[in-house]
Amino acid sequence: MSRRNIVVVAGGAGFVGSHLCRHLLDAGCEVICLDNLLTGGLRNIAGLEERGPFRFQRHDVTRGTSLPGTVDVVFHLASPASPLDYLRHPLATLAAGSTGTDNLLRLAREKSARFVLASTSEVYGDPLVHPQPETYWGNVNPLGPRSVYDEAKRFAEALTAAHRRSCGTSTGIARIFNTYGPRMRSADGRAVPAFVTQALRGDPVTVAGDGLQTRSLCYVDDLVEGLLLLSAAETPGPVNLGNPYEISMLDLATRVVRMTGSTSSIVFTERPQDDPSLRRPDITRARQELGWEPTTDLTAGLLRTISWFRSAAATSTTASAL
Ligand code: NAD
Repeated sequence: MSRRNIVVVAGGAGFVGSHLCRHLLDAGCEVICLDNLLTGGLRNIAGLEERGPFRFQRHDVTRGTSLPGTVDVVFHLASPASPLDYLRHPLATLAAGSTGTDNLLRLAREKSARFVLASTSEVYGDPLVHPQPETYWGNVNPLGPRSVYDEAKRFAEALTAAHRRSCGTSTGIARIFNTYGPRMRSADGRAVPAFVTQALRGDPVTVAGDGLQTRSLCYVDDLVEGLLLLSAAETPGPVNLGNPYEISMLDLATRVVRMTGSTSSIVFTERPQDDPSLRRPDITRARQELGWEPTTDLTAGLLRTISWFRSAAATSTTASAL
């Protein structure tokens, strides 16, 4: 009988990480979730130990990471990810991408485990090439406020590639494009949870700038499938994981208002500095090397997300009434 895979998910109590932990448990893996709860929460992983062998360890990956026993895969998702979070925690974001990445690469090397880095489309900055293939080197302002995230991830990629070259560690880099789904925080500053929460409350839906800037939104289950395929492959990447369907922020806001049946108006606010104008992944490499492409269209994904936010709002109203 083959033994089950033992998988470390750093950042496992966050939005993407908690979905990844659930999928890994459902696939029969043993999961060790490391998280310092900076932007994640225990509510995201509540009940996971009932699905399979799941262990949570409150741990900051910048402090060094050692674990007893065998580890087969190390996923590094531990980093603030939303603009509000990384602007609030600039030094912690740089540390998670640098020292945190180094510590987890050392763990993977010691255990002869596969290492998967959750990098980001932000490494392309405000891109001058559209859509973005992995061969594009990006257009990043290295000193602007967003650089704490963009450059941390670019450094994390360089470190991952260097560990592979120098130490022979099996590594894979995923460049994740905007992902959405249940368990995002209402106030994390990202468009989908902001629009859905505002529309469900009947508040004005706030669109930055003229709303013509685009994003490509990937449903979280599709992303997790891509991460799992990357962990099982040998390819170093980087591999873009995202949904090539592109939508302007104004169209997204309009669609959310319609789908929630809300009476909210749409209002325009100041555009943040260095906010990218266009974002769409070229996923040719993911198709060829992983056999991956997203299968959830935006309407289906938004319906699931809206329904989750609706029930989360109902639960918190009931809880505060008790
Ligand atoms: P999130 O903020 O919900 O989750 C990040 C998790 O990492 C949180 O639980 C947080 O507490 C934890 N964490 C942060 N610093 C840590 C540290 N030093 N030690 C241990 N834990 C730490 O964000 P998310 O949206 O789930 O993103 C997960 C990963 O995917 C991030 O690395 C992010 O850069 C990457 N990513 C996400 C998206 C997206 O659209 N969600 C897009 C591109 C890349």
